[in-house]
This record gives sequence, structure tokens and C-alpha cells, in this order.
Amino acid sequence: MVGSRTRRRYSRAAVRATMRANRSGNTKPDRMMAAALSSLGFAVVRNAEADVVVRALGLAVFVHGCFWHGCPEHWRPPATNRAYWVDKVRKTRRRDKTAREALQSKGWTVIETWEHDVVANAHSVALAAVRKTRE
Ligand SMILES: [Zn+2]
Repeated sequence: MVGSRTRRRYSRAAVRATMRANRSGNTKPDRMMAAALSSLGFAVVRNAEADVVVRALGLAVFVHGCFWHGCPEHWRPPATNRAYWVDKVRKTRRRDKTAREALQSKGWTVIETWEHDVVANAHSVALAAVRKTRE
């Protein structure tokens, strides 16, 4: 239900502004994620095997845009061309799954995170990602 998640610390306006500002390949959440991992002392590569990569850890992070990847909290199909957008997001998610599985089969630890989580707290997403490589 729209507007029911008041426990979130970021504002919907902030999330929408970030989503609007995003451009493929060089998005603000990508940069935030890279900066957070970098601040933990890791050498970070962007736009390689995934949006953000730490080769030393075999860590591949995908920061999924809430709009393009169909975030369950923020995505609503536009009223115009609804079927087109539903199908487009479904295909994007299928590609996400294929990419994830391909990397996992090569031994990468793959983290998929939503841009809204990165915008809210990139540091904690980075910590969780690093922890996951040590499981
Ligand atoms: Zn979202």
C-alpha cells in the first residue's frame, strides 16, 4: 500500500528524486555503493562484471533501480502502456536472474540490492555484502 511504510528513514521524495536522476551505467546509487565499499578499504571497480565489483573478495554487486527493475516497494506500472511496462520489467528481472546465476556459477558472491536501500544506508548494505563473502 502506498504511503504505509513510515518506518523508512528516507523520504519518498528523496527516493523519487534519485530515481529520476538515474542514468544507466553511472547512477548515483552505484556511486554511493562504490564509495561505501571503498571506505571499507577495498579496491572497487565499477561497471564490470556487475555495477560494483570488489575483485579481491569475488564480490559482484548489482544496484537495481527501483523503476527499471520493478522494486516491490516503489514500482507501479505507468498508467499509459501498462502492459508494455509490466512486460519490460519482467524481462529485466529475467536478465537479472541470468546474470546473477552466470556469475554465481563462476564462484562470485552476488549481491542484488535496491537503489532505495543504498540511498537509505549504503554503508550497511556494503557491510552486509562483505559479510556475505565470508559465509
Ligand atoms: Zn525501491
